[in-house]
Amino acid sequence: MTRGSTAGTEVDLRAEIAELKRARNAVFLVHNYQLPEVQDLGDFVGDSLGLAQEATRTTADVIVLCGVNFMAETAKLLNPERTVLLPEAEANCPMADMVNPGDVTNLKKEHPGAVVVSYVNTTAATKAVTDVCCTSANAVKVINTIPAEKPIIFTPDQHLGAYVRRETGREMIIWPGCCPTHARLTAEMVLEAKGEHPGAKVVVHPECPMEVIELADAVRSTSGMLKYCAASEASGFIIGTEKGMLYPLKKHCPDKDFWPITEQALCPTMKLTKLASVREALLHMQYEITIPADIAEPARRAIERMVEIGRDGAN
Ligand code: SF4
Repeated sequence: MTRGSTAGTEVDLRAEIAELKRARNAVFLVHNYQLPEVQDLGDFVGDSLGLAQEATRTTADVIVLCGVNFMAETAKLLNPERTVLLPEAEANCPMADMVNPGDVTNLKKEHPGAVVVSYVNTTAATKAVTDVCCTSANAVKVINTIPAEKPIIFTPDQHLGAYVRRETGREMIIWPGCCPTHARLTAEMVLEAKGEHPGAKVVVHPECPMEVIELADAVRSTSGMLKYCAASEASGFIIGTEKGMLYPLKKHCPDKDFWPITEQALCPTMKLTKLASVREALLHMQYEITIPADIAEPARRAIERMVEIGRDGAN
């Protein structure tokens, strides 16, 4: 093996990963916010909903989920017979940890008969006390399937909740969680970016605060951003989501320009997974996701309801 240069080391590492992948009969499902070199490994690169859907289609023995823990849990819930690995044990989602099953159970007691809709960015234990999950790509559609007379409890993202309320006109009891990465975006940052890139379209994620959403030309999930930017006649876009998204956007639309609203839009736990983490994951079969049956069954039902509703009509 060549160990003389960084480039040589990375080539060796990639070759080793490819060999281990074959030996383990593994598939790599990778989120759009992962490091570029990790995205380049992906058999599928996409958003939470895409990863969940792809997880139902695979025939591989091992799913390596390069993302954060709730994504790996979702893959396991949909594939209980397969081994699911999260390459970095500490790759959690801070927003998912902002609500717990006790919080949801208390809200249900306060609002009897309410339908609980939880963003897929929740732990399996919170999903187990949820009626139906949603992602940013299908949240509006999921809410529109709920009968008008039913109250709705929405967890954990207050910003996605506010956006969905605006789009559907439905009153909801919204849990006050947020994504720290998106919550730090401000209207001032958007105006400054617009000043620097006049004529560029502003495309933001619905996890952004409403003051940011109100200044946007389009509000899209990460998969929706890819479609929107590819179809748009504009040649430049200011992007309001985790900065890793600029990599798949540029790959998808090489002739267009993309700028982040701010360089600070980084999710630290999304950046934990490196090529070496993937190699170690396959070598030592770590870190395997296990979910107790009493949590897995009700959590799976909440995700399956979402997958059935699907992506149709999503942005
Ligand atoms: S970007 Fe936000 S929602 Fe996504 S994993 Fe990081 S903290 Fe969670």
